[in-house]
Amino acid sequence: MTARYDAIVIGGGVNGCSIAYYLALDGKKVLLLERGRLAGKASSAAAGMLGAQVELTEGGPLFDMAKESRAMFPSLQHELKEQSGIDIELVQKGMLKLARTDNETEHLKKTIAFQQRLGERAEWLKPEQVMERERHLSASFLGAMDIPSDGHVNPERLTHAFATAAVHLGAELKEDTDVCSLVKEVDSVCGVQTGDGTFYGERIVVAAGAWTKRLLETCGLSLPAYPVKGECFSVLTERPLLSSTIFTDTCYLVPKSGNRLVIGATMIPNTFSENVTIEGLSQLMKEAVNVLPALKSATFERSWTGIRPQSGDGLPYLGKHPDDENLIIATGHYRNGILLSPLTGSLVAKMIREEPLPSYMGSFSLDRVKESVKR
Ligand SMILES: Cc1cc2nc3c(=O)[nH]c(=O)nc-3n(C[C@H](O)[C@H](O)[C@H](O)COP(=O)(O)OP(=O)(O)OC[C@H]3O[C@@H](n4cnc5c(N)ncnc54)[C@H](O)[C@@H]3O)c2cc1C
Repeated sequence: MTARYDAIVIGGGVNGCSIAYYLALDGKKVLLLERGRLAGKASSAAAGMLGAQVELTEGGPLFDMAKESRAMFPSLQHELKEQSGIDIELVQKGMLKLARTDNETEHLKKTIAFQQRLGERAEWLKPEQVMERERHLSASFLGAMDIPSDGHVNPERLTHAFATAAVHLGAELKEDTDVCSLVKEVDSVCGVQTGDGTFYGERIVVAAGAWTKRLLETCGLSLPAYPVKGECFSVLTERPLLSSTIFTDTCYLVPKSGNRLVIGATMIPNTFSENVTIEGLSQLMKEAVNVLPALKSATFERSWTGIRPQSGDGLPYLGKHPDDENLIIATGHYRNGILLSPLTGSLVAKMIREEPLPSYMGSFSLDRVKESVKR
């Protein structure tokens, strides 16, 4: 007899794996399907920043979600270590967002004021205060926003930790399993068609990153969403050059273990191409060396790309399909999918438990694109 699952989750990126984990914690019978390898796409390309305050410069639902998700990481690292044996390498050493023009200074000072009003820790540092903390930076900036609460993790390890923990709790995982289409019964999605056969589930959760739109099209649904390619590279240095993450308008530098610096990222919309270009890399290298001149003698390690899932209005799509409550969509996390992943998983679990959701979830509802996703 064909097994019937409580939930089938499509996509072995950080969001699909987090969703599978939180559903498995609830005791649900879960099947997680990934067409390649776990964390094979955007979730291993990410720098892993938990940049709630560095990335989001306005208040609103995404800022609320980002702060709540960031706050989950300290306990999550222990929980996942226990369930999976994997250390997600959480680092909480803050970020510095540099201002290099008067406009940027003004903008950052406004951001600090709004974040302080909301009770967040953020402070303006003068150049000499920044240089005291990060003595290898070039003196080419006018000051910085100090954000002690933003940190970073190892995104690939986080994804594997969610998946391993989910499996430990009873979820089934199938890699190399491409979902070719969603299966419908009357008006509702009830399963998925793969090269390995058809699987049936009470709920189908599509967390297929930038490929979600294509998958939904297989059952006549369209979603305003598009891919944004990002290129990154890493270098190794003889000694640590930075203690906090450095963020500018054009690049970021994230200090990882083993004297490794991850430097990113370009933003190229509307392409699924995963090639690394000389143009992208040379632009990033130039920006990074301007910020941290000692990089000139660093050893180049490797470069890579990832495809970010972006939505039509910049907010994630997180909720039930307006006409089919068996179909749940979780995508559009764009530049913040690592940061938002724990809360994404726990909110989907809550949705399936039919519990009340936080008020900001109204802004992520699929109702806002009801007309376009209509069959
Ligand atoms: C260069 C770069 C740097 C980034 N830095 C950060 C950062 O510092 N902090 C942060 O929070 N975010 C960052 N991001 C964004 C973050 O990586 C993404 O938002 C996040 O990884 C999206 O996760 P996901 O699970 O939704 O998608 P993905 O990781 O892309 O996973 C989707 C998965 O679905 C699978 N799939 C697709 N179609 C099918 C199908 N038909 N059948 C089965 N499986 C399917 C794919 O193979 C893929 O593995 C960065 C992204 C890039 C590209």
